[in-house]
Amino acid sequence: MTNIKITAQIIVDKLKAIVPDHRNHPLHEPQFTGNEWNYIKDCLDTGWVSSVGQYVDRFERQLEEFTGIKHAIAVMNGTAALHVSLRVAGVETDEEVLVPDLTFIATANAVTYCGAVPHFIDVEERTLGIDPKKLEAYLTEICSIQNGQCINNQTGRRVRALIAMHTFGHPVDLDPVLEICNRYNLILIEDAAESLGSYYKGMHTGHWGRMTALSFNGNKIVTTGGGGAVLTNDSLLAKELKHVTTTAKLPHRWEFVHDQAGYNYRLPNLNAALGCAQLERLPEFLQHKRKIASIYQEAFHDVEGIRCFKEAEFAKSNYWLNALLLDDADLDLRNALLELSNDNGIMTRPAWMLMHKLPMFRSCPSMPAEIAEELTQRIINIPSSPYLGDAYA
Ligand SMILES: *Cc1c(COP(=O)(O)O)cnc(C)c1O
Repeated sequence: MTNIKITAQIIVDKLKAIVPDHRNHPLHEPQFTGNEWNYIKDCLDTGWVSSVGQYVDRFERQLEEFTGIKHAIAVMNGTAALHVSLRVAGVETDEEVLVPDLTFIATANAVTYCGAVPHFIDVEERTLGIDPKKLEAYLTEICSIQNGQCINNQTGRRVRALIAMHTFGHPVDLDPVLEICNRYNLILIEDAAESLGSYYKGMHTGHWGRMTALSFNGNKIVTTGGGGAVLTNDSLLAKELKHVTTTAKLPHRWEFVHDQAGYNYRLPNLNAALGCAQLERLPEFLQHKRKIASIYQEAFHDVEGIRCFKEAEFAKSNYWLNALLLDDADLDLRNALLELSNDNGIMTRPAWMLMHKLPMFRSCPSMPAEIAEELTQRIINIPSSPYLGDAYA
C-alpha cells in the first residue's frame, strides 16, 4: 500500500468523489420519503394539530419499543428534555453538574436553567466522550463524600449529577462511568441527542442513565421538525416527567388545579406525526449510515496523517455524523481543509468550541481539558445525510 501524504486538496478531492452534488447541502439533511405526508395530512384533516392527539402517544410507544427503555416522554426539543431531566433529578440552585467540555451548548445550558453550575470534564479520544479513568482520578482529587453527598472541596458546592454525551452518536464507555457515579452518589443522565440507534455492549444507549434526553431537531438522525424526548426505566420518574412537562395539572373534568410551577414542554401532535413516520424509517437510515461510514473509512485509509473516526470495540454507533480526525493537532491544516471544502460546496465543520472557553462559562469549575483541546484542533465533520449511501447502493 502506498500512502499519500495529506494535503487539504487531497482530502477535498476525496470528499468530492463521495458527495455527489457540491451545492452546499447540510452536514445532515432529513429525508421524507415514507409516511410523513400521510400522517401530517391526517392531523390537518382531523384537526388534532396541537398538544393533544394520538400521534404523541404513538410516537412515545414507538420510541419505547425501539430503544427497549420502558418509558418515553415526548417534549418540544432536546434542550427541554435535558432541563426537565435535571429538574426531576432534583438538581438545585448552586449545585454542580459534571458535563463534558466537548459538547453542544444545550448540555451546559440546561444545567444553568436549574440555577446550577456546569463543571467541565475532559474527554477521551476513543469515544470523544467522558474519560472514566480521568474522571475517577479527578473526583478522588477534588471531591469528598460528606453525609452521603459528593462535595467539591474547592468550591464547597454539592456535585449532584453527571451528564454523559454520546458525541456524533458514538457511545461513551458507560459501565465505568455509571460505576463512578454510583460510588460518588451522582445521578447519571445521558445526553443521547445524537445517539438514537447507537448501542453500548449490545444495549441501546439510554439504559445507563437514570434519565436520557433525545433530540429530534432537523439535523438529527430522525426529525420531528423540532422535538425531543426523555427516556427512563423508572415508572415513578416517568409519571413525574409527564406531569411537569404538561403544566403539572391535576386530572379533573373541569378544574384547573396545578400542584407546582410546571412547564409547557409538550410535543405538538403535528410534530409527533412526523416523528412516527421517521421512526418507521430508522432501521433503514441506520443501515445507510453504516454504509456511508465504511465508504469514508475506505476512502481515507491510504492517506497519511488523517483517519475517519471509528466506533470503539464495545460500541455499535449510529454514525450520525462522520468525522475526519487529523493524527496531530494542526489548526492550520484543519482551517485550510475547512476553507477549501466549504469553498467547493462541500459542507464541513469543526467540533464545537469548548464549553469552558465560552464567555458565560469561563468562570465555571473545569478539569484541565488536554484531550478536548487537542480534539477540537483535529476534528472535521463531513457530510453524512442518509441518502449519500444510495449513490453506492
Ligand atoms: C441537538 C443536541 C441537543 C439539543 O437538541 P435541541 O433539540 O436542538 O434542543 C442537546 N445535546 C446535544 C449533544 C445535541 O447534539
